[in-house]
Amino acid sequence: MLSGEAQNAFCAVRPPGHHAAVNNTMGFCIFNNVAVGVEQARQVHGLKRVAVVDIDVHHGNGTQTIFRADPNVMVASIHQSLIFPKTGASSETGAGNIVNVPLGRKTSAEDFCQAFKDKIVPRLMEFAPELLFVSAGFDAHKRDPLGDQRLVNADFAWLTRELMAVAKACCGGRLVSVLEGGYDPEAVAQAGAAHVSELMGHR
Ligand SMILES: [Zn+2]
Repeated sequence: MLSGEAQNAFCAVRPPGHHAAVNNTMGFCIFNNVAVGVEQARQVHGLKRVAVVDIDVHHGNGTQTIFRADPNVMVASIHQSLIFPKTGASSETGAGNIVNVPLGRKTSAEDFCQAFKDKIVPRLMEFAPELLFVSAGFDAHKRDPLGDQRLVNADFAWLTRELMAVAKACCGGRLVSVLEGGYDPEAVAQAGAAHVSELMGHR
């Protein structure tokens, strides 16, 4: 993607990564795939400012831990509060580079999307990354047995379009989406397909 061959990418990786930190595995995660990608972009390709947006229903605590003292990496996470791993309060701000948007259980899809638009999008635009990573969990889907949120496939398509608009405004559309959690196979397949379809420019 950084060579210009593609504008964006979706990585259907297993296991997921966003709970893993440098020296500890956690919550089904062994390596923090997104953090490895961020470091690849910076150390190999020379990018300076990279942002990660985590839409998994669980807080991306591993990614936050890895980058919390690094003002050149912004990590924003919208998640359900008080479920695993029980971190991600809005007061956790790192070096000013961490944005946490915790939501209560049974938050409506409308309120979820509004919180994303009000609390994450402006911070991303302000940070102006050179590359945007998405920790794409699909467990905020209403069918998911671990999360207790209400998103449907169309909401994941909307979130994708919002993220693509940020990437277009800041970094020529460069966006790498990496699969995180999702525990209802049908929801992961359908919401994932909606997500990838948007990334491919199909409506
Ligand atoms: Zn999750």
